[in-house]
Amino acid sequence: MNQQTKQFLKTILIFVFFGSVGLYLYLARPIVDLPVEPPITYPSAQSCEKLGVKINTLVKQANHCADDADCIVSEEVKSLCGCWRFINKNYNTNTIKQDIELYNNQCVQRVLCEPCLTEPRKEEVACENNTCVINEFAIQAQDEILLPLILHPVRESGVHTTARTDEGILALFENTQTIWSQAGIAFEVTLEKVRIQDQIAPTTMGSYPFFTHVVASTNDNALHVYYIRDLAGANGWTVGPRHIAVADITTVDDFRATAHEIGHLFGLGHAADNEESLMASGRNGQKISEGEIHTARKRAQQF
Ligand SMILES: [Zn+2]
Repeated sequence: MNQQTKQFLKTILIFVFFGSVGLYLYLARPIVDLPVEPPITYPSAQSCEKLGVKINTLVKQANHCADDADCIVSEEVKSLCGCWRFINKNYNTNTIKQDIELYNNQCVQRVLCEPCLTEPRKEEVACENNTCVINEFAIQAQDEILLPLILHPVRESGVHTTARTDEGILALFENTQTIWSQAGIAFEVTLEKVRIQDQIAPTTMGSYPFFTHVVASTNDNALHVYYIRDLAGANGWTVGPRHIAVADITTVDDFRATAHEIGHLFGLGHAADNEESLMASGRNGQKISEGEIHTARKRAQQF
């Protein structure tokens, strides 16, 4: 072995030695994962107060909603007094939960707690002005809402005169009542014939100028249902804020057409293509969804 080779091997050994030591030190290094947010302690009354304010602000943000379906009574996020809170179900509550935990662990309860309000039932939760609230209308959700409603057969009105009898109209409306009983809404019915002066038969669906004076002549808070010969092919139509019309010939059950139009008076739009739904257009469905019941009851109590 010549001097050069010796030197070479020595160099190799030194590299291997220090390399191994380096590798050992690297592998044996203590694993220190710095927390992204170092734990903060809130030992003072002042910082606890700050944390309390922060929690309340976050809870307020979590209460933001677009519609009723967003709002839930949170199982996890309670107020600093342990009372229930509204939370948007889509809100990520991790930060709030951490802060509340921190508060509960490190802060002496410094807020003066009053007894918690009664937790609302699911159907009492609503989104008003983008905030989850208790729906005051739904609180009486189980109470029946009774609305005055006048059935108007159009008589002595030429082209508009209905072929329906008073008895026929009263009988069909019984079924309309049954449909709306799902929502706890009932109608106190009277029957009063009406005359339409304007003798021009409707030609365009949705354009019924001859109803203008009839609607304008009503001066009560009742709902008005007009039974008329024809509506240019429509089954029914909304002709005023509390006024609907139903044609003699309907492509769906006449009592269902009546109930559907009443749904529009209650602020309900058309349901997507759903055979079962009362608010589907041109179908015979009779079901009213929970959300629709909520909307309809709210509106019904404003009539
Ligand atoms: Zn409709």
